[in-house]
Amino acid sequence: MKRALITGVTGQDGSYLAEFLLEKGYKVYGLRRRTSTPNYENVQKIKDQIEWLSGDLTDMASLMEAVRVSQPDEVYNLAAQSYVAASWPQPLATGHMTAISVTNMLEAVRLMKPDAKYYQASSSEMFGKVQETPQRETTPFYPRSPYGVAKVYGHWITVNYRESFNMFACSGILFNHESPRRGLEFVTRKVTDAVARIKLGLQTDLKMGNLDALRDWGFAGDYVKAMWLMLQQEEPDDYVIATGEMHSVRELLETAFSYVDLNYRDYVIIDSQFVRPAEVDLLLGDCNKAKERLGWEIELSFKQLIHMMVDEDLRRVQAEQKY
Ligand code: GDP
Repeated sequence: MKRALITGVTGQDGSYLAEFLLEKGYKVYGLRRRTSTPNYENVQKIKDQIEWLSGDLTDMASLMEAVRVSQPDEVYNLAAQSYVAASWPQPLATGHMTAISVTNMLEAVRLMKPDAKYYQASSSEMFGKVQETPQRETTPFYPRSPYGVAKVYGHWITVNYRESFNMFACSGILFNHESPRRGLEFVTRKVTDAVARIKLGLQTDLKMGNLDALRDWGFAGDYVKAMWLMLQQEEPDDYVIATGEMHSVRELLETAFSYVDLNYRDYVIIDSQFVRPAEVDLLLGDCNKAKERLGWEIELSFKQLIHMMVDEDLRRVQAEQKY
């Protein structure tokens, strides 16, 4: 039985990855941080199948202990402060949780289980002010937020541990990936949740920031398969994971509102509090390397994804009203 250790297992990606690995027969260890109000919403169905370990990304001793106890074949480092907008008001916390914590995790693996395969969750936010379009593995980084800067550190320290210590360490440069489990502060989920509430008469408007931003949005369930595939290869390497299609925030609004026969122009208000100090205008990924070497393909299109998220939010909001 293969053993996997996942950090960030209660998050969107961690929960999909845990389900995927459990189905493959893995023993899954999940790292959880002690909080006074734990949130297991994303892992409700599989909570009892996960071996829970207590630890904190910023406490290397706890990570060493987690690796020692779990003796993993594969480590997926998904935990971080993951919301771009929150990285300006909390740049140092973001640096600790999103950058330095990667070295903590790599050190824990190097010291306790150096032959474990390691996956680092890198991000298209590293491309920031894009230096070429579409962006691929060789495109230079130009991050535009404390979050993006922290992710660049995480990416390069992963590459460095591979080259310095011959560790099987991979960095997945994932473009935006969404699902009904996406946090409500991210733009896709903010929109699909608002559409459900407006449709059900519980909300009257939606305050938004920059509608011209362009993103390459895919389905998180498809993207966690790419993480696993990277660790099944002969050699460790870095891969861009994306759909190769780009849509604006305005198109996202149009797609979500029109699905329930509403016009977004009747509800959306531009509010400067959601405009960022520095913006990433466009992200578009070239994932040909992943397609060719990993045989990875997306299964859900942008439209299918947004419709599925609206359906799920309608169902959830309706159920909440019953209580
Ligand atoms: P990011 O690409 O990781 O920052 O993912 P987000 O979902 O947070 O934001 C995607 C894009 O949507 C960014 O360019 C934001 O500036 C833009 N955007 C426009 N209005 C909003 C909003 O109200 N909330 C969020 N989160 N993003 C918005």
